Amino acid sequence: MSATPARRIRVVVTLLALLALSACAASAGHTAHARQIAAGQPIPSTPPPTPSASPSPTAKPAPGSLEWYVSQVPTFPGAPPPQPVLLPATGTAAFWHRLPTDQKVAFITIDDGGLARPPAVAEFVWRAHIPVTMFLNSPAAEEHDVYFRQIQVAGGVVENHTINHTSLAGRSYGYQKQQICGAADKLEALFGKRPTLFRPPFGEHDSTTLQAAHDCGAKAVLHWTETVHEGKVRYQTPEKVVRPGDVLLMHFRPALMDDLLAALKAIHRAGLTPALLTDYIQ
Ligand SMILES: [Zn+2]
Repeated sequence: MSATPARRIRVVVTLLALLALSACAASAGHTAHARQIAAGQPIPSTPPPTPSASPSPTAKPAPGSLEWYVSQVPTFPGAPPPQPVLLPATGTAAFWHRLPTDQKVAFITIDDGGLARPPAVAEFVWRAHIPVTMFLNSPAAEEHDVYFRQIQVAGGVVENHTINHTSLAGRSYGYQKQQICGAADKLEALFGKRPTLFRPPFGEHDSTTLQAAHDCGAKAVLHWTETVHEGKVRYQTPEKVVRPGDVLLMHFRPALMDDLLAALKAIHRAGLTPALLTDYIQ
């Protein structure tokens, strides 16, 4: 979970530059996001104390505040050095519900991007060192690029979730390729890195999807083993516990802060540490 000092310094510099840039953004929405992060002082410093009666060093943060969320994050064992998983030799993308690894890690993924974007997420991800993979629809990514770039700078990785969020199963190769490559092209232009992972909308896919995803640059297509919604983890497997390699799915929805916290607690309860998919799928 911990970043190297060099990386953290690089990220801080990048983030400060980004905040300065985003403060100049023409869009009022973008400026509002930048202000909200800037108001807590630049990451990773501590937000100003609340204006209530003289806080003591032992004062507990108000429930629901960013400080509170950060204070609730469990302390994880150090992440093991990633051992990348084996990929198919040729011609198609891998498909996994759970990564084939015995390492004591699980993966947090956040989908879509068009519905809601809680403003404190980037700083939470930064402050608590939460490795997150974002599967974005490219129009939402384009409309709210500053928001997602802030999470990227805080340590998140942007991956591909199509353009229009339509089910791909049973559709032609041409249609699927247009949806996957079109989003990959746009996300690469917006975030400076071509996606190497793909998640089909609703998880619905067929062999054509794996072929098209491969042809658009994806190494793997990801389903999931748990969903998290409104602060509650729902297990899709009989074990009812997060297992090594598991993939937890949540969305950019209003309760995302609670969902992140619930996922972190479930991963911690299982004796695992959150990790980045791209450290394991290379
Ligand atoms: Zn989706």
